[in-house]
Amino acid sequence: MHEWAIAMSVIQTMEKWAKERGVNIMKVVVSLPSLSMLDLDIMRDAFKILKKNTVLENSEFEVRVRDTDFDCRNCGRRFSLEEIKRQLSEVFENYGEENPLHLLPAFVSSFARCPFCGSHDFTSELSVLVDGIDYESDA
Ligand SMILES: [Zn+2]
Repeated sequence: MHEWAIAMSVIQTMEKWAKERGVNIMKVVVSLPSLSMLDLDIMRDAFKILKKNTVLENSEFEVRVRDTDFDCRNCGRRFSLEEIKRQLSEVFENYGEENPLHLLPAFVSSFARCPFCGSHDFTSELSVLVDGIDYESDA
């Protein structure tokens, strides 16, 4: 399960961060890129279970989805997820109800193209990020 491995590494990073600074973390906001295959509920459960017996036991983990922007490798321009969704919805119409893609990043670039130059060669930030940390001094 990818979600568990990611949650584990976020927790380890946050533990180290808190110890180095001598702070209590109250809340961590984690964002998943909207085109990832990661399951929000599994991520939330993973944090709930993995934080036990760590310094983050009482910390809240908020997991949310963030919209992804895309960078064209061919013309260097940036475009939004909305543009991709629009293109994909046209593709889906041809398939009817049976959605073939489940929005795998690998498939997206073979169906969608840069709206400026038409290239399929684009990329996006697909890592899981820590967007915010609320903490208080341990003193
Ligand atoms: Zn382009």
